[in-house]
Amino acid sequence: MREKYIPPSYKEEGFHCPHCGVYAHQDWYDVSLERNIESESAEGLSLSYCERCDNYAVWVKEILVYPERSKAPMPLVDMPEDVMRDYLEARKIIDRSPRAASALLRRALRRLINYLDESGENIEEAINNLNKKGLDIKIQKALNSVRVTGDEAIAPGLIDDRDDEETTLILFNIINIIVDALISQPRMVDDLLERLPDSKKRDKDFLFRARIR
Ligand SMILES: [Zn+2]
Repeated sequence: MREKYIPPSYKEEGFHCPHCGVYAHQDWYDVSLERNIESESAEGLSLSYCERCDNYAVWVKEILVYPERSKAPMPLVDMPEDVMRDYLEARKIIDRSPRAASALLRRALRRLINYLDESGENIEEAINNLNKKGLDIKIQKALNSVRVTGDEAIAPGLIDDRDDEETTLILFNIINIIVDALISQPRMVDDLLERLPDSKKRDKDFLFRARIR
């Protein structure tokens, strides 16, 4: 039940901000140029302003030119802050260096796993624990294929010459899938339970146990 991604679009009132990755209301400005006391409109140059992160995006002739678009998906809003930092940095550099982006993403994954399970130092054991907490067992296979776990695992932060753009995109998606399954979905269930009328709250413990599986 992932939040639907609304890409940035010219003169739209709201979309997922290309800076902070969150769905937010956008204010729009048409730019004018001042010279001495005269001013004229800069044809085709507009700015959108994100109310959430206070950043501007630059549009020329209805096309977003800053920040640069990335092939990588945006991070989910529930991603822990230090994981998000590496993730967004990797997003900025995927076109220029998939190898460097992958190194950042393996570090982000390690941070995420540490955050979710205290045995995160031993990655195989941590993943087993996360499977018990509801992470799809197939993710283990995906982690092996992109050398996060298994015999060919690369230490987080190291450069591996075999990393290409496809591997990097898989790493982005795995991070989002784990955040979705183990942070966003439980949070949404908790939010839902909080909104239950009092008469229904008696059943809350039952629902909670059902969610743990
Ligand atoms: Zn923003």
